[in-house]
Amino acid sequence: MRKIISLVIAISMLSVIATGCMGKNQDNNLPKIGVCLYKYDDTYISTVRQALEQGFKNKATLYLNDGKGDQGTQNDQVDLLIQKNVDVLLVNIVDVGAAQTIVDKAKNADIPILFFNREPDQSVIKSYDKARFVGTNAKDAGVIQGEIITKTWSSGEYDTNKDGVMQYVMLKGEPDNPEAVARSEWSIKTAEENGIKTEELGIQVCNWDTETANRAMEAWLSKFGDKIEFVVSNNDSMAQGAIAALQASNYNKGGDSKHIPVVGVDATDAAKDLIAKGYMTGSVLQDGQAMSNALIAIALNAYNKKEFIENTEYEYDATGIAVRIPYKPYEGTEK
Ligand code: CA
Repeated sequence: MRKIISLVIAISMLSVIATGCMGKNQDNNLPKIGVCLYKYDDTYISTVRQALEQGFKNKATLYLNDGKGDQGTQNDQVDLLIQKNVDVLLVNIVDVGAAQTIVDKAKNADIPILFFNREPDQSVIKSYDKARFVGTNAKDAGVIQGEIITKTWSSGEYDTNKDGVMQYVMLKGEPDNPEAVARSEWSIKTAEENGIKTEELGIQVCNWDTETANRAMEAWLSKFGDKIEFVVSNNDSMAQGAIAALQASNYNKGGDSKHIPVVGVDATDAAKDLIAKGYMTGSVLQDGQAMSNALIAIALNAYNKKEFIENTEYEYDATGIAVRIPYKPYEGTEK
C-alpha cells in the first residue's frame, strides 16, 4: 500500500515537473507583450497588427486582443493581460477619455505601457513615468496634401479661368476634431507657402461621410460649376463621395472628360482604385509597417528596462513623451 502511494506521489510529482517544463518551452522565456487594438475591423489597424505579428516573431510572445470598438471590452482585456503578467502593454485605445483608467491599471502593476495611433491627453501619459505615445502628427497629413496640390497645380492646366488663383472647395471631417482642423489648415497653408494663390469657394463639414460629401459636392457643382478648380478632402471617404458627384456631372471620367483634381487622406482601397483609374489625384498614407517597427523597438527596450528610445532611430517630439511616425504621400505609383 505504502509503495503504491509513493508511486502515485512520484508520478504526480513527475507530471508537475513535466508541465512546468512544457510551460517554459512554450514560452521560450520570451518577453510577453500584451496588445490591445481598438478594433481588428479597420484597414490601418489590421496592417499594424499583421506587421506586429511578423516583427515580433521569435522575439516575443504576443497576446493580441480585439477591442471591437468597445472600451468596456478593452478594459477587461487589459485586466486579463495584467493577470497574465505581461511584460509590456501596447494599447490602441478605443476611447481616449478612458486612458487615465488604463494608465492607472498599468501603473499599479508596474508594467510599462505604450499607447499608439489614438492619442490620449499628454497629462495622462505624463502621469506615469513608464507610459509613452507613438503616433502620427496631425499637421503632417495636411502638409503632404499641400505638396500633392502643389505638384498637381504646377502643370497649369487646372487653372480653368486662367486668373492665376486656385479656386477650391474643402470637405471637412468634423468641426473641432484635431485631425480635421489640422488637415484643412495645413493643406492650403502648404500650397500657399509653395507660391500658389488660393481662393476658398466653399467649406462644408461632412463628418467624414461619403454620402454627405456627395450632396455637398452636388450643391457646389450646381452653384459654381467650372469655377471649381480643386477639391480638397480631409479623408478618402468624403473624396469618394465628391468624385461620384463629379462623375454624375460628367467630370473625372477619364479620357477626354473634364477633370477637377481631388485629394484625400487614408489611402483606402476605394481611393487606391480611383487613383489607379485616374479619377482621383492622390491620398496620404499612414505607414502601418513604420508604426509597427517603432512599437517593437520601443517595447523591447521597455522590457529590457532601458529608456524607451535608447539606441533606436526614434526621438521624442516637444512633449518629451511622444514619438511621431511620418505620413507618406500616395499617388498610385507605390506598391
Ligand atoms: Ca483659377
